[in-house]
Amino acid sequence: MFHWWDIGAMSGILSAEHEAVRKAVREFAESEIAPVAREYDEPGVVQFPWDVFEGAAELDLLCPHIPEKYGGSGMDFLSMVIVHEEFNRADPGIGTAVLSAKFGTEMILDYGEEWQKEEFVRPVVAGEATCGTSISEPDAGSDVARIRTTAERDGEEYVLNGSKTWASTSPVADFMVVMAKTTPDAGHGGISAFIVPNDTEGFTIGREIPKMGLRASPTAEISITDARVPAENVVGEVDRGFYQLMEFFNENRILVAANALGAAAGAYRHAYKYAQEREAFGQAITEFQGLQWMLADMATKVETARSTTYRAARQHMAGEDPRQLASIAKFYTSEICEEVCSDAMQIHGGYGYTRDFPVEKFYRDARVQKIVEGTSQIQQNVIYDSIDPNSL
Ligand SMILES: Cc1cc2nc3c(=O)[nH]c(=O)nc-3n(C[C@H](O)[C@H](O)[C@H](O)COP(=O)(O)OP(=O)(O)OC[C@H]3O[C@@H](n4cnc5c(N)ncnc54)[C@H](O)[C@@H]3O)c2cc1C
Repeated sequence: MFHWWDIGAMSGILSAEHEAVRKAVREFAESEIAPVAREYDEPGVVQFPWDVFEGAAELDLLCPHIPEKYGGSGMDFLSMVIVHEEFNRADPGIGTAVLSAKFGTEMILDYGEEWQKEEFVRPVVAGEATCGTSISEPDAGSDVARIRTTAERDGEEYVLNGSKTWASTSPVADFMVVMAKTTPDAGHGGISAFIVPNDTEGFTIGREIPKMGLRASPTAEISITDARVPAENVVGEVDRGFYQLMEFFNENRILVAANALGAAAGAYRHAYKYAQEREAFGQAITEFQGLQWMLADMATKVETARSTTYRAARQHMAGEDPRQLASIAKFYTSEICEEVCSDAMQIHGGYGYTRDFPVEKFYRDARVQKIVEGTSQIQQNVIYDSIDPNSL
């Protein structure tokens, strides 16, 4: 049977196997994502790209790093990084939307019971279900310990009450991993993670939040009133949810870095092509040294971001603590992503500010990477806290 990762190798920064993964993913992204990017970006319309999600699942591209026993391809984490990069290179709106629809499976995989993996992870890997993770609340984003949603034990069930916001994918999800306080006065040590099916009574997906970009990814508020879930739906240990989340972030921040890396690479590609075609003062604008330097700066940023992101991924795969490097990758890559997208727009002149060219969409869609999974400032806190002066 033919697999997409069997395609022949190219040379470069990656191994031959990883280059083959990149080639296959790029083919899919360029043929299935890039051409429909604008369709999913109509102002005021939020629409999840089901065709792309299902197509990616068919080729095992949604979760290639998940073990074969749960339906994944059993590939390594770097392969997942490459999928994030390539999907976002084709279009950061659809790329991020489709790959956010599995957000939460990693936590279940790392901490969940066997039956949870079978019942909740397997269908997502197969493209038959979508999910999200709901941590943020109207009064608590960066400061996770401030969440107020509670989960009280009642016999063999937990009863959840509270308000969530910014829940990506929730309007089209089958279930959410919801963080709630099981010991309200215990700060970080009183939070637990729950699998909550979206059809649970009292679990109401509310207003969809209008956003600057990412219109392929529905984001909503959630109102939770006496929502009952079986006690066995706790993921991992009771009161250990915050610590599980931090471990999960170490992995997921590398994937967010990959989203930003892909968007920066895509914006660069559009800018380079445009600069070769556009003429001013009797020559192609690439002949101006000012623009050559701008393109050189952009390329330097993308390559540096790529090296850091891959290094963080490799550290994670080696079983080492990737905390600092994951934060450096996420911080640096999301910051340079905004700069590169902005420069790409500048190189397009006035056309860059229109919907007739893709770069304005790259800018709007990718800007969020500096905010999600811990803002840039939170990454800087993590980096500072983990500095070992002797290692630099
Ligand atoms: C499109 C989108 C999708 C999202 N999807 C999800 C999702 O699926 N699930 C989910 O749970 N959440 C999601 N979020 C929420 C996101 O994780 C939060 O917005 C983010 O964590 C920041 O929290 P906040 O918005 O409350 O900002 P705040 O925490 O209120 O921060 C405001 C400002 O203060 C700064 N700040 C805060 N604390 C510190 C500090 N200690 N040191 C220095 N500066 C600090 C921040 O960097 C920021 O600049 C999403 C957000 C967006 C925009």
